[in-house]
Amino acid sequence: MPQFAARLNTIVTAEASQLLSEVKEMQRNGRDIAMLCVGEPDFDTHPRTGDAAKAAIDAGATKYAPLAGVHELRQAICDKLRRDNGLNFTVENVIACTGGKQVIYNAFMATLDPGDEVIVPAPYWAGYPDVIRICGAAPVFAETRDVDDFILRADTLECAISDRTKWLILNSPSNPTGAMHDRSDLEALADVLRRHPDIWILCDDIYEHIRFDDAPFVTLAQVAPDLKDRVLIANGCSKSYAMTGWRLGFGAGTSELIDRMITIQSQVTLAPSTISQWAAVRALEENLSIQGEQLATLLRRRDLAVSMLNQTAGLNCNRPKGAFYIYVNCARIIGRSTPDGRVIETDREFCRYLLDAADVAVMPGAAYGLSPYFRLSYAIDTEELERALARIQTACAALR
Ligand code: PMP
Repeated sequence: MPQFAARLNTIVTAEASQLLSEVKEMQRNGRDIAMLCVGEPDFDTHPRTGDAAKAAIDAGATKYAPLAGVHELRQAICDKLRRDNGLNFTVENVIACTGGKQVIYNAFMATLDPGDEVIVPAPYWAGYPDVIRICGAAPVFAETRDVDDFILRADTLECAISDRTKWLILNSPSNPTGAMHDRSDLEALADVLRRHPDIWILCDDIYEHIRFDDAPFVTLAQVAPDLKDRVLIANGCSKSYAMTGWRLGFGAGTSELIDRMITIQSQVTLAPSTISQWAAVRALEENLSIQGEQLATLLRRRDLAVSMLNQTAGLNCNRPKGAFYIYVNCARIIGRSTPDGRVIETDREFCRYLLDAADVAVMPGAAYGLSPYFRLSYAIDTEELERALARIQTACAALR
């Protein structure tokens, strides 16, 4: 029999996508499941962004684009970085990719060799470790704690660094916790990183515009300009601009790194969809991100969810400052029994119980490297969210 590649032994199909397919199947069979497991805004892309794509099609912009993206998009990315982040980059410093995911893939393929290590603060977006493993390198997990609001501590970072460390990943606002670094958090990490000049830093800023309570967004290159040449910013339109399906991400870093990323991209996908690029030019130039009433809606949902979760027997959570996730502590659930007598031993089993008993789909903390928790996404209709949270409360109250 023909055989599959050995690299498949180290990676899995993204667990959230698997759960999504399973739940979709249940819904087809008539079950009314609340999807608190999705990683995308429930809002539509801004109509002006869509108009730019239609205009691109009508203008015949349907051919291959230059490898790193059309010049206008690269310029719009530079302008965005200057306007929103106070960072100066020129077009040689930026690349347009097929989603933020490919920014990360290109960067790691261009820099990681077998034996290299990447420090991944846990809990982490499940996309990081497997991309690191595809490159033959090893993720090294640095745990954060809910009492620290899931912010990576400088001493934890220091302990995770070895002479094989090639990258540190920072993701703020964070998937799966919604945590956000402030200036002093980043300054403390910068102090450690200055002592280790061979480490690159990936700043995954993809949730940049989804934040609450006037929490300012800061990224490491702003706080520590002396480290800018070691930073790769990974950002994109998916989350902040409600454009997940357009598959448009962008990276910014030194031209040396960007050149290598372009080489990788040239052998994987070429440039991202030309039509999506023109949509992104409009979205970035006119700053058509999630804002105003949409942000206010997300804020109301966050506060509703935080308050109902903290009134649920056995659960507690922090009030996240950004993204649209809550990472809920379910330690007090572990060891309890379901009405039919099964003992819940892990967060995975608890999530299965919620799916069976409450018709609610959430993601187990085990998928993000920190247990016992689950990730709840509140990017769904507010009334549906409220009904789902009430069902979680009932299901938890039924445990013994
Ligand atoms: N980074 C983080 C933290 C994410 O949550 C995601 C999407 N779930 C991505 C990157 C990739 O997003 P995309 O490829 O859609 O731009």
